[in-house]
Amino acid sequence: MELVPIGTHLYACLQPDRGLGWSNSGFIAAGGGLVVDTLYDQKLTAQMADLYAEVHPETPTRVVNTHHNGDHCWGNKIFEEAEIIAHTGCAERFDEFTPAQAASMAAMESPPPHLADIAEAFRDFHFDDVELVPPNRVIDGDLQLDLGGLEVEILYVGPAHTAGDLIVSVPDQGVVFAGDVVFHLCTPIGWEGTHQAWVEALEAIEAMAPETVVAGHGPLCDTAGVRAMREYLEYVWEEASAHHAAGRTTSQACQSIDPGQYASWNEPWRLAYNVHRAYKELNGGAWDDSYHTGAAMADAALLREQWAK
Ligand SMILES: [Zn+2]
Repeated sequence: MELVPIGTHLYACLQPDRGLGWSNSGFIAAGGGLVVDTLYDQKLTAQMADLYAEVHPETPTRVVNTHHNGDHCWGNKIFEEAEIIAHTGCAERFDEFTPAQAASMAAMESPPPHLADIAEAFRDFHFDDVELVPPNRVIDGDLQLDLGGLEVEILYVGPAHTAGDLIVSVPDQGVVFAGDVVFHLCTPIGWEGTHQAWVEALEAIEAMAPETVVAGHGPLCDTAGVRAMREYLEYVWEEASAHHAAGRTTSQACQSIDPGQYASWNEPWRLAYNVHRAYKELNGGAWDDSYHTGAAMADAALLREQWAK
């Protein structure tokens, strides 16, 4: 991982691997120190904390969890003395999927085919010693902070990628820490939320015209990177809608959609998750209904195999 200065008192901690669970974090070295997202396990988060200590020796007093996926909050234990801020939608789902479950998937000797990829990806992390430390300041909307004279806006933009999506904006410096509302050069996966709400969240970030965006996954980007992500979601939605209207099954839609220019993004076969999520909505599912992730995983595994040929 790498600590990258992105403004006055502002840093990104970037993990070069764009695969599952390799998330980014942000740091504001002012007003006591504010960490935007911890990492997938305590070992990685301790490494990250060491990097932050190089620019801010005192223990940070605040953490923001942008959402409840483990790769953004399972390292909270490292900062357990801090005020840990998250949205209600994050707090309510905090232990929906646990480190113990992830550890048992990683330990599967012969996982079923649709879980093979995820089991392998999980083996890179240390879930056995992760102790969940939930947020202790739960917010329902936006929150403004003054960090030693630096204006920081914590904005609720969900339900887009998940129910509890927060972004952290430093408007005076044109910096947005976007969590998984933005994936850059890697294919997004969404959980709760709707395509439209996700598109609106991205449009809201585009309207801020940030110069630097710290994506949840992938390298740094700017407004153009946010636009590219929105266009991807719009493309998938239009394609999925057309196949749905033509009476095709979810699997048929996955097989038929051309990844086009997005084939070069990391793990393009994640398209299947986005198609399943779109079909859930097209079939009248509510934003907080879950889609059939097992079927999405199976379709993603099939696309991966086919596109490798
Ligand atoms: Zn993530």
